[in-house]
Amino acid sequence: MHNATEFKLEARPTIPEALTRLDELANDLFCSWDHGVRSLFARIDLRLWQKVAHNPKLFLRRVAQNRLEEAAEDRAFLSEYRRILSSYDAYLDAEPGPEVTTRLDPDTALVAYFCAEFGFHESFPIYSGGLGILAGDHCKAASDLGLPFVAVGLLYQQGYFIQTIDAQGQQIARYQSHYSHELPISLVEQEGEPLRVSVPFPGRLVHARVWEARVGHIRLYLLDTHVEENTVGDRELTLQLYGGDETTRISQEMVLGIGGARVLSALGLCPTVWHINEGHAAFLILERCRQAMADGLSFEAALELNAGATLFTTHTPVPAGHDIFPRALVQHHLAAYLAETGLEFESVFQLGSKSSGDSFNMTSLGLRGSRFHNGVSRIHGGVASGMEGDIWPQVPARENPMGFITNGVHVPTFLAPEWSSLFDIQAPTWKSELRNTEFWEFIDRIPDYHYWSVHKALKQQMGDYIVRCLKRQHRRNGTGHSVTERMTRQLVSPEKDTMVIGFARRFATYKRATLIFSDLDRLERLLTDPERPVVLVFAGKAHPKDKPGQQLIRVIHDLSMQPALMGHVILLEDYDQAMARRLLSGVDVWLNTPEYPKEASGTSGEKAALNGALNLSVLDGWWGEGYNGKNGWAINPRSTELDLEFRNQEEARDLLDLIEFEIVPLYYNRASQGYSKGWVQRSKASMKTITPRFNSQRMVMDYVERYYRPATMQGIKLAADSSRLAIELAEWKQRVRQDWAGVSLSVNQCVAATCLHDEEISLSVNVQLNGLWPEDVRVECLVTAECTGTHDCPGPDRFLLQHNTATNTDADTGGATVFSTRILPPYPGLQSLRIRVYPYHQGLTHPLEMGAMVWL
Ligand SMILES: *Cc1c(COP(=O)(O)O)cnc(C)c1O
Repeated sequence: MHNATEFKLEARPTIPEALTRLDELANDLFCSWDHGVRSLFARIDLRLWQKVAHNPKLFLRRVAQNRLEEAAEDRAFLSEYRRILSSYDAYLDAEPGPEVTTRLDPDTALVAYFCAEFGFHESFPIYSGGLGILAGDHCKAASDLGLPFVAVGLLYQQGYFIQTIDAQGQQIARYQSHYSHELPISLVEQEGEPLRVSVPFPGRLVHARVWEARVGHIRLYLLDTHVEENTVGDRELTLQLYGGDETTRISQEMVLGIGGARVLSALGLCPTVWHINEGHAAFLILERCRQAMADGLSFEAALELNAGATLFTTHTPVPAGHDIFPRALVQHHLAAYLAETGLEFESVFQLGSKSSGDSFNMTSLGLRGSRFHNGVSRIHGGVASGMEGDIWPQVPARENPMGFITNGVHVPTFLAPEWSSLFDIQAPTWKSELRNTEFWEFIDRIPDYHYWSVHKALKQQMGDYIVRCLKRQHRRNGTGHSVTERMTRQLVSPEKDTMVIGFARRFATYKRATLIFSDLDRLERLLTDPERPVVLVFAGKAHPKDKPGQQLIRVIHDLSMQPALMGHVILLEDYDQAMARRLLSGVDVWLNTPEYPKEASGTSGEKAALNGALNLSVLDGWWGEGYNGKNGWAINPRSTELDLEFRNQEEARDLLDLIEFEIVPLYYNRASQGYSKGWVQRSKASMKTITPRFNSQRMVMDYVERYYRPATMQGIKLAADSSRLAIELAEWKQRVRQDWAGVSLSVNQCVAATCLHDEEISLSVNVQLNGLWPEDVRVECLVTAECTGTHDCPGPDRFLLQHNTATNTDADTGGATVFSTRILPPYPGLQSLRIRVYPYHQGLTHPLEMGAMVWL
């Protein structure tokens, strides 16, 4: 038989006059979090809305003309349409509050936020996991708060892969092209022509076009290289997120960092703060140095000028999250760019070198090219200080400039509409009280039965959703009908209200998805207790190159198919943001068992808590701050010095103990009302303590306060007067670096061993300055109280030692400068005193940024 050629034809509707602004709504990512806008589309044609995976642009191309016309005639619909438009207009018209405008002048300040992935919505799949969703949430909150803010990323034609899991538990990765007309973006034009930026690559220029996405008040610019001027190979550079090999990766990062900075210049935007969100975008530092050098600065001065206005955020201690490129690859790829710019390869390479090895680390580049740095939770901040300590080699890790801001999630995106409506009734102003912890006490005033009925309704929706997903997945895999029935039977009987524990996130090995299976017999007994059954639901993608991650999927798949566990262990394919919203708002317990301290923050547990689920998690990442003893359950990680196998066993036992002795009994302690009072109490405690602290508005305001504002000020200071301070700092640092190796401290006068409580003691040291001036350094004494073992040692208190010009010429100091002071011992009893010297200049962003320090 002859196969006919098939042509696809899309008959597009004309949007009726009365509904023209639907198009505007479809072109603003505002619709990714506004339930009202989404419900409008669903109302026009629910089946199509589901079929196009909640993609408003696609919906408006495919919807039948008569549906639109009916809607345009339907009074109820029109009034809803007008209500939603007026709330959209009110959102766009809202001015930022004084807490923003007093910190960032809306007329002059501008934050530029660069990231390799952005997760706004499932219909815009240019994200792989937590990092992308976080970046999306950051932009959404920046819009909500009215920050002067612009974001830059890449448009991947195929984005991240679609996952299927076959009958053998094998992950199959499928890529699907997304056409720009199906996405909420539009091509940026200048003078009637599409805007192009180009980046010098070896032997050629790589061109990129630029897309604009509206996110309420802010704009996101996305570059892609799929343009005619490029070779066929170059057109595919931005095909896939985290695809290809290291050549693809470095090329993408050049387009993002260098091309991205060029886009902002081409648009006439002059950011006052540059936020490099993870190492992928760190090449922007080079491009900004190039721009400053074109204005006549030296490389060193250009770096000082730019770094002072730059923040670098690191998101993971796991090596796979840090790009490390071989020297030759970097040299080859940057050669043409550097030749054009006048930057020297060795100086550039130095910025990315780690103490060990001849490779180029994008994290190191990000850190050396910025003066503000942070990790994403308190625990992770500490870990990152240690890991990246070699940037500041002589400074104790505890004191280096690495700070932290704990991640938060965008409440309107992740809070189920059912909760949102309940809050509207109980506390109508809740949307403007997202950072007010006291306000959230109102949760306790919600009647328990009402609270539980919302949870139960959401859980039922999740159950239906899981059943649909499982059926689709298993029909395709050829699983028998009776088997699928067994798989879903715990979920289809709402009257039983079986406890559901969820675990969904990327299948990276450090997240230990299979930890809970460490003692299978015990787990099986727990899950299948006929009186108190439990269902475990898993979902997640493993990177296509991560074989051990894919092995985890296979293990869970096999367990889910075992007759004994069937229906109690469920594995869903193709985890994305839509599935995340379903699971996170429907489960009773959200499980997280990372290998401490590798979960930098984690955010899915925060999303679960907003929706009343209780966290059961290893005390790592955000949970280290979020857990208060009453709002969930914690597993204490064992010391990292112990063997991993042993830690896994111990932590797994704690996990099963908690489930068996606390969680299941509490959940099933139902009185006649049909739910557990104790559970509701705990769930409320979780919701009210976590929502106002771990949301993205709190996070973004922390960024404003601790980084965006100081970096803006520092940038202004460095740039003033033709960059006078940046030039001075660069020269000063060069001089200090040359002489520092010869700087030393020695005792001038022994410190008294005892004194009376109110007696001052004198401190005096000789500093061999090796050619530096006394003004170039700070000499200080750190006093710490004696540790008692049970408490942290108080202190240190710091005392500055002054150099005394009169004693400078004293012959017996051997050419050294005397620094001295008198101090009153700050603590009673025993205390320890340590004295040190480090280079100091008042123009520094952080007093220890040079990483140089000598102790007595
Ligand atoms: C929140 C979210 C994540 C991050 O989950 P973690 O548990 O923090 O790793 C990943 N994927 C999606 C789709 C999410 O919504």
